[in-house]
Amino acid sequence: MIDTESSPPRLRLALPNKGRLCQPALNLLRETGLVFEEDDRRLFAPCHNYPLDLLFVRADDIGEYTQDGVVDLGITGSNLLQEAGATVVHRLELGFGRCRLQLAAPNSAQITTAEDLAGHVVATSHPRITAEFFAARQLTVRLIEISGAVEVAPLLGVADAIADLVASGSTLATNGLKPLETLLESQAELVAHQNLAPDRLRLVEELALMIASVIAASRRRYLMLNAPSESVERIRSVVPGMGAPSVIQLADPGMVAIHAVVDAESIWQRLGPLREAGASSILVLPIEKLIP
Ligand code: AMP
Repeated sequence: MIDTESSPPRLRLALPNKGRLCQPALNLLRETGLVFEEDDRRLFAPCHNYPLDLLFVRADDIGEYTQDGVVDLGITGSNLLQEAGATVVHRLELGFGRCRLQLAAPNSAQITTAEDLAGHVVATSHPRITAEFFAARQLTVRLIEISGAVEVAPLLGVADAIADLVASGSTLATNGLKPLETLLESQAELVAHQNLAPDRLRLVEELALMIASVIAASRRRYLMLNAPSESVERIRSVVPGMGAPSVIQLADPGMVAIHAVVDAESIWQRLGPLREAGASSILVLPIEKLIP
């Protein structure tokens, strides 16, 4: 359990020690401004500029460690948290490690809905979530737990259908499987222990705000351009999300500079229409942190 002696608290954050969530989680912490050494073989890395120690553990164990207070915070997939049945506080969705738990059956099978699976065998990497799904539908299926290459189970004749993680769906298609239903949408999350002491909770809130500001900033860009004064309204209509831009008078009479924070996703499609609306000298800059 966490030491709550009188010395100033240091938070413990559990991160996946390998796999597809590991590097994006480390990148996010670095972008947040945390400074720590990275060493593949280490279990523990103290941050030099924040009272935080990183603990590298299996992604599957992070929910339970956070629930039990072995760590104050964890970063892992929501599928793993739900599969572990972990009771934790969900602080932030982190926007990476997106996937879904998909129920799928062979293209050739007569099965087209989850209901058609009553009395059949389903192979899954997530027995708890899958069992809850069928129980909620009052359907009796036999589940077999398989940890890797679940999608080959129907080809091998060991299952009639599968429930497995999918990102693009291309593995399903390659293995001749058709999607039936999505059991869960997942992404990496920051979660916290439920009963933190007030000084730890304060730090957790500060750290969550720092991380949230990096995520918010990564989805936006700072747009700067020059335009004739009469084009301001037309330019605003081209760029959605451009609430109350700064409009600055330039030395050239009749010309203004417009600065605004805009959504990163659609900015490239807007550049042509912006130029048609009279914009010139357009700059698109990254934002490091954004706190609304
Ligand atoms: P790992 O097996 O350690 O590489 O990580 C597996 C975790 O990454 C899963 O539990 C999900 O949270 C997440 N993930 C994201 N996309 C996928 C995917 N296409 N297949 C499996 N896991 C994924």
